[in-house]
Order: sequence, then C-alpha cells, then structure tokens
Amino acid sequence: MEQQANIVLLGAPGAGKGTQAAFLVQRLVIPHVSTGDMLRAARAAGTELGRKAAQYMDAGELVPDDIIVGVALERLAQPDCAQGFLLDGFPRTLPQAEALTEALGQAGRRIALALNLDADEAEIVRRLSSRRVCRGCGKIFSLAKKQVQEGGACPECGGEVYQREDDQPEVIRERLAVYRRQTEPLIGYYRQQGVLRMVASIGSPDEVNDAVQAVLKETF
Ligand code: AMP
Repeated sequence: MEQQANIVLLGAPGAGKGTQAAFLVQRLVIPHVSTGDMLRAARAAGTELGRKAAQYMDAGELVPDDIIVGVALERLAQPDCAQGFLLDGFPRTLPQAEALTEALGQAGRRIALALNLDADEAEIVRRLSSRRVCRGCGKIFSLAKKQVQEGGACPECGGEVYQREDDQPEVIRERLAVYRRQTEPLIGYYRQQGVLRMVASIGSPDEVNDAVQAVLKETF
C-alpha cells in the first residue's frame, strides 16, 4: 500500500513548526491542522470552546486532553484529511498521542512520519519574543529580522500585525516548561513506533526546509 502522508510535526514552541508546516502543506498538498490556530479562531469567534480554552492559553498551559482530543479528531475525520494531513501542535501529551493512534487505527490508518524540529532553548526565547503574526492572513514575521515593524501593517495583505498574548516572556518560560514536562515524552513514543525523524532547527527557515525536504524524500 502506498504510504499516506499522515504527518505529526513535533518540537518546542518557537522551534519553527508553523513556518515549516506552511512549506510542507504546499509541497505535499495536504491540509494543515493546527490545534493552536483552531483554538485562536474559536476565541476570535467567541464560541464556547474559545471561552473555555482562553484561560489555559493565556497562562501558557495546555487545554485539557478531553477538550482538545475531540476537536482534533473531529477535524481529522473531515474528507479533506482522508489522503493525508499535517498535524501541528497536536498531539501534545501521551494520552493525546494514544487517542490519535487509536482513532487512526480504527480506520486502518497510521502516522507515517513524526518530524521533530530540534531547537536550542536560548534561540527559542529569542524567536518567540520577536515573533509577530498577521491577524488577516496568519503569516508569521520576525521583528529581529526586520520582516515587519512594531505597529506596522502586514507586508503580504496589509492586515494588522500583533504579538500573541502567549509570546510574552513569562508565558514563554511557562510554555517551555510545559513542553518539557508533557510534550517531549512524545519523541520516545514515536521513536518506539519507528516513525520518528529529527531535524535540527538551525539557520534560516529555508535551510531548515532543505533538511525537512531530505527527510520527506526518504519517507514518501
Ligand atoms: P500553539 O499555537 O500550538 O503554540 O498553541 C497555543 C496554545 O493553544 C497552547 O499553549 C495551548 O494552550 C493550546 N493548545 C494548542 N494545541 C493544544 C493541544 N494539542 N493540547 C493542549 N493545548 C493545546
């Protein structure tokens, strides 16, 4: 059977998941399923899910598994995910990973690749504090790389560029602690399943993407 592009993107906050995800979904023509983006959209729309998630997100904590697993699995059951998907920000805990394996298994499917973006912690803090996001098109920019100016408009669509609430320094520290405690164990989980590949997130997004492309060539 031809291997389906069912991919999990792993890595600490700020390791470059969002940026690499954008490259990957374009290249493989699969949907980008980001639970963080889904929660931010739910908040902006003022839904019950958005209201429930807000307190956890602003504190840099994880939304409880029973809430997020339902959200993610419902999304993966949509027809556009039938031939493959790129999961970004999910799973983030072992119970989430187990629920995903179980749900895919029931449909005779499995994760084909868990790609871990490995970044240095000091670099992560630098990247996240400098990260700005467009409210209009969702594109990510760096203040440090002068891709956008503080208070300036999005160079792509003219939308408002803002700093995520959870990219403030105290929240970044909490998110990194949560990552180490709850998400890092997933590296071992997917290694055991024989689908883990590591890519060092060093250098420019294009350089990291070259390494990611090399992994894709070997896998699919
Ligand atoms: P992200 O954009 O992936 O960094 O996610 C932003 C925030 O949304 C996280 O800090 C969590 O509060 C929440 N979140 C996103 N995905 C998950 C998940 N799989 N499990 C729990 N919380 C999540």
